Amino acid sequence: MTMLAGKCALVTGSVQGIGLEIARALAQEGAAIAVHGLADADQAKAACAELVAAGAPDARYFDHDLSDPEAAGALVRDALAWREIDILVNNAGIQQTAPIKDMPLETFQRILTINLTAAFATMQAALPAMAARGYGRVINIASVHGLVASANKAPYVASKFGLVGMSRVAALEYAAAGSRESGGVTVNCICPGWTETAIIEPQILERAALHGGDRAAGVADLLSEKQPSRRTSVAAEIGALALWLCNPIAHNLTGVAIPVDGGWTAQ
Ligand code: NAD
Repeated sequence: MTMLAGKCALVTGSVQGIGLEIARALAQEGAAIAVHGLADADQAKAACAELVAAGAPDARYFDHDLSDPEAAGALVRDALAWREIDILVNNAGIQQTAPIKDMPLETFQRILTINLTAAFATMQAALPAMAARGYGRVINIASVHGLVASANKAPYVASKFGLVGMSRVAALEYAAAGSRESGGVTVNCICPGWTETAIIEPQILERAALHGGDRAAGVADLLSEKQPSRRTSVAAEIGALALWLCNPIAHNLTGVAIPVDGGWTAQ
C-alpha cells in the first residue's frame, strides 16, 4: 500500500520546477494531483501525463492566475469540486530583483499577491475540511529569503518572511486538529537556497555575463557568495522532503521553516 493512496494534493505552480517535482514525489506514493500553474495546453497535458505515469490515480489541471487576488480561493473551490484536498502545497511564486529605489510599486504588489496573499486564501479555503477529517498537510515553499535578506529583493524577501510568519499562525490555529493515529494537521515551510529551476535563470545569466557568458562560472560565483556547500539543489530533493512531511509520523512537526540551503542560513 502506498503512503498517500486515497489522498489528493493540490500543488500550486506544479507545471514545472520545484512544484512539478513535489507533485511527482506525492504521485509516486499514490496521491491524486490537482496540477496548477501558468502553462499552455501542451505543457499542462504533459505535466498531468507525467504524474499519472509516476503513480497518481488521476491528475487534473487548473489554470487560475494568482496575480488576481480572487483566484486562489477560486482555485481551491474548483479543486474541492473535483476531490477533497488532503495536502496543499503553496509553491507558485515569482521573483524580480532591483534596488528599492528602482522597484516599481506595482511589481512589489504583484509579488506579494502571488507569493503571499494567494497562500493565505488557499489555506483559508482548504484547512477547515482538513481539520474535520483529522489529517491535513500544508507545505508552503518559502525560501532562505524567508529567513535572511539579500539586497535588491525587497518584495520577494517581504513575501517570504510573511509566508514563514503566516505559516506559524496557521500551524498554531490547527495544532490540536486530529490525532497521532489520523496524522494531525500540520503547516510548515520549506526554505530552499539555490535550486536549479527557471526562476533563478535571470540571476545566473546576469552573473555569467561577468564571466564572459560562462554559465558554470556564473553559478559557481553565486554559490560562493552565500551557499557554503557550493552545490545547487535539484528540485526532486525538495520533493523528497515535502513527501516526508506528509507522513503521518510527522504529526507533531508543525510551525517550522526547514532550510535546504547548503548551510546558507547557518552562517
Ligand atoms: P519556476 O519559475 O520554475 O516555477 C514557478 C511556478 O509558479 C510555475 O509553475 C508558474 O506557473 C507558477 N506561477 C508563477 N506565476 C504565477 C501566477 N501568476 N499564477 C499562477 N501560477 C504562477 O520556479 P521554481 O524555482 O520552481 O519556484 C517554485 C517556488 O520555489 C517559488 O515559490 C520560489 O520562490 C521558490 N524558491 C525557489 C528557489 C530556487 O532557487 N529555484 C529558491 C527558493 C525558493
